[in-house]
Amino acid sequence: MNLPSNPDLRRALAARVRFYNELGIYDFYRREGYSAATAANDADLQTTMVGAEISDEMPKKTAAVPIAESNFLVAPAPKAEHGVADPVAALKLIREDLGDCTRCKLHKQGRKQIVFGVGNPNAELMFVGEGPGADEDAQGEPFVGRAGQLLNNMIKAMGIRREDVYIANVVKCRPPGNRTPERDECDTCSPFLMRQIAVIKPKVIVALGAVAAKNLLAINAPMSELRGRFYDFMPSGVRSDPSWQGARLAVTYHPAFLLRDPRQKGEAWKDLQMVMKYLGLKPPKPTT
Ligand code: SF4
Repeated sequence: MNLPSNPDLRRALAARVRFYNELGIYDFYRREGYSAATAANDADLQTTMVGAEISDEMPKKTAAVPIAESNFLVAPAPKAEHGVADPVAALKLIREDLGDCTRCKLHKQGRKQIVFGVGNPNAELMFVGEGPGADEDAQGEPFVGRAGQLLNNMIKAMGIRREDVYIANVVKCRPPGNRTPERDECDTCSPFLMRQIAVIKPKVIVALGAVAAKNLLAINAPMSELRGRFYDFMPSGVRSDPSWQGARLAVTYHPAFLLRDPRQKGEAWKDLQMVMKYLGLKPPKPTT
């Protein structure tokens, strides 16, 4: 099946497929003769569908259902790491494939280096943020600045260590001025994140902030709707181990946001407690 090249249209199409799935409709047939004439309506279709994603006409709960749109629409091509059992070697192959990446415009907007990801390649728990900041860009490691210190404390409060988890971002190059990464940048870079996830096969992914959540889940909803529940997550566009049933994905606030608004730390702790309960983690005993 030929996919629309426009990522917005692909997302919108996936959202429509999901909508029909929720109605119990799983089989789709294309009418004979669908081609140029129908494709000419793609622009209208895009407008309708993308609009539907944020319109009140779509049921609210639809907006909170996870999708991996390419899973519906694409037979993923095997990647270099496919079939490589050792996750360290597989991650290395992904990093090599990334190379000195110039695939999106972030490569020429002042990045010092690519920030690939760090941590335990066999981690049960993975944290995904939005993109590197200045400290991360300088050190080549995600979450090493003030927000990183807070993330470390959050991880410690869960009774584990930073070295036990894997940490990565949606985009691997620092957006200038720490701006939010743009849609085309996320769409270009996130397939590498999907491949990392497919190698690590975590039990739980915690999306840190709305940008990470929206990119991983490909849905458009406010944090108030995204938090407080688990989503079933399977990385899109990659072939993963058939024995791995995917991860559960939880959404919480980005540590940088918590630094700006510490009143929300209690809410973030509730999100982490949900994850701890699922993973059977206990907070460390207080030292006297
Ligand atoms: Fe490449 Fe990702 Fe950096 Fe863009 S953000 S240049 S896709 S590594």
